[in-house]
Amino acid sequence: MTQEKKMTLTTKVIMGMGLGIAVGLIINLLGLNAGNFIGDNIVNGLFASIGMMFVTALKMLVVPLVFFSLISGVMGIGDIGSLGKVGAKSFALYLLTTAIAITVAITLAVLSGIGEGVNLPTVTAFTVKEAPSLSSVLINIIPSNIINAMAEGKMLQIIFFSILTGISILMVGKKAEPMAELIEIANEVMMKMVNIVMAAAPYAVFALLAKAIANLGLDLLADLAGYVVVLIIALMLHLFVTLMGILKIFSGMSPFIFLKKMRETQVFAFSTSSSNATIPVTLRAVTERLGVSNSVASFTVPFGATINMDGTAIMQGVATVFIANAYGVELGMTGYLTVVLMSVLASIGTAGVPGVGLIMLSMVFTQVGLPVEGIGLILGVDRLLDMIRTAVNVSGDAAVSVIVAKSESKMDERIYNDPEAGILTDENLGIDEAAEQELAEVVQETHDKS
Ligand code: ASP
Repeated sequence: MTQEKKMTLTTKVIMGMGLGIAVGLIINLLGLNAGNFIGDNIVNGLFASIGMMFVTALKMLVVPLVFFSLISGVMGIGDIGSLGKVGAKSFALYLLTTAIAITVAITLAVLSGIGEGVNLPTVTAFTVKEAPSLSSVLINIIPSNIINAMAEGKMLQIIFFSILTGISILMVGKKAEPMAELIEIANEVMMKMVNIVMAAAPYAVFALLAKAIANLGLDLLADLAGYVVVLIIALMLHLFVTLMGILKIFSGMSPFIFLKKMRETQVFAFSTSSSNATIPVTLRAVTERLGVSNSVASFTVPFGATINMDGTAIMQGVATVFIANAYGVELGMTGYLTVVLMSVLASIGTAGVPGVGLIMLSMVFTQVGLPVEGIGLILGVDRLLDMIRTAVNVSGDAAVSVIVAKSESKMDERIYNDPEAGILTDENLGIDEAAEQELAEVVQETHDKS
């Protein structure tokens, strides 16, 4: 066996990330990212296409995967009562972690005094978005047309329909067995498809990061160093202290194992800046590497990707203080409390896609009366920060999934504690020839009979 064969996908993905960042930095520092062959054809041509193809392939998996895995999860959970408990617990934990995240972020930002004396004229235009009202968020959970909901990737609507389908299959009972079986199989097939797409990850991660970093305004980073540093500290604090503390206290599971097994998912989130596109990878990591039963994870992961955005909430807290200080606006206790409430609400009504955090921020600003143009100040550095906060977002989804699963006895601790569990290598990524042969024979037999 060659050395290459033994290398796990995680190792390769992390190498892709390191190399991508290095190449991107070099291109950026040499100013080669635009107006020349490398910039136009390699960075914004080749790298951009490889990256985009990969993200699109991930997105392609999301809807069918959530649909089949959630129906199979509902069928596997046993009783409807425990489904309700999983829903209530994860919802409460998602709200709690988001509220803690933004409170800590605001406190840190206020203490550091960022934003005072910042140059205001660098402001660029930013369009305001209306905050979705609570009633519209609620009404929008129910799809009027499921095909339309799937076509538009409306996660809460897909979740709603899938749960209802699962429950109905259970209610039909014995007669629905073939359908239940078919869905189980479809779920397995989709999971395999995730593995196939993931095999391309090391190259795609390289391309995504090389392009993103090459095009970043690094000098802008220096101008806004205060904001960037406080934000990154708050994000790290949340990931390593708050989330890991909550994980340990509520589930007793080891944070070290959790972080180790989540590394690959975090890199995916970091490179794609989208919790939604990362759903297939998060779901795979949570079930196959952390041992959470599909009956819990198939709900908590897509639900979390949609409503739980701790990293985004942290950005909103830090950005609010930064911009309030820059404009010399006193928000006061009531103002900050409104920010906390609004951020939590806004995160429920918006999906985890790149850059959505800024849109949510504009909703928060309108509510507390801060100038929305202020967002223009931080627009330039948001691309990089979006990457980091998305990695924190998906970690929150996974941590809550583990806590809920543990409390519902829907978790296999042997898998959690087994360092090898669910690892992808070149060997298990390939086609199993025996299985392929077996299937070919079955297909041939059915064909001959008919
Ligand atoms: N990109 C983030 C996510 O998908 C959302 C955001 O903060 O913009 O989770």
